[in-house]
Amino acid sequence: MSALTDLHREIDARVDTIRGSHPDWLCGKGCDGCCRQLAELPRLTLSEWALLQTGLAALDETQRDDIRQRLAVLGPAPARPVTCPLLDPATGACPVYAHRPVACRTYGFYAERDRLLVCPQIAAQEADGKHATVIWGNHARIDRALAETGEVRSLAEWFNQAEWKAEAGCG
Ligand code: SF4
Ligand code: SF4
Repeated sequence: MSALTDLHREIDARVDTIRGSHPDWLCGKGCDGCCRQLAELPRLTLSEWALLQTGLAALDETQRDDIRQRLAVLGPAPARPVTCPLLDPATGACPVYAHRPVACRTYGFYAERDRLLVCPQIAAQEADGKHATVIWGNHARIDRALAETGEVRSLAEWFNQAEWKAEAGCG
C-alpha cells in the first residue's frame, strides 16, 4: 500500500467518525462552496498527481479540454477566490472525486494549529457551539505525511507537462 493510500485511509477514518457522530454534517454531495473559494490553484505532490492523472485519463476528451481551457483562462497565479478548474461548473460536481487531492479530503473536517479548515457555514456552527464534541483532524500531521509523497507543483504545472498531455490525448 502506498503512503498516499495510507493517508487517505487515515483521513477517511477521521471523516467517518465525525460524520457518524454528526449525521447532519454540512459537507456532502452537491456542496461545491469550497471548490469555488480556493486561495490558489490546487497544489499536488507527485503521488497526488499520479493518482489524479488516473481520474483525468478516465474523463472524455471534451471534459479534459474544458479543464485545459479553464486552466488557461485562470493563468498561473489567478486572483482569489479561485474556482477549481477541475470543477464542472454546470453540475457543481468534482469529476475526479475519487482521485482528488488530500486538501479536498480534509477540508471541512481538520484543524491547523488553532484554525479550523472549514467554510464559513461550518465555522458559524462551531461558533454556535454545535460542534463542541467534534474531534477535529490534525492537519499538521497530514502535512508531514504528505511531504513524504514527492515534490509539490501547482495543478497548472503538472497539467501542462507534455508527456501527460500526449498520453491523455489532451490539448
Ligand atoms: S467545507 Fe463547507 S463548502 Fe465545503 S463541502 Fe463542506 S459544507 Fe460545503
Ligand atoms: S479537485 Fe474536486 S473536490 Fe478538489 S477543489 Fe477541485 S473540484 Fe473541488
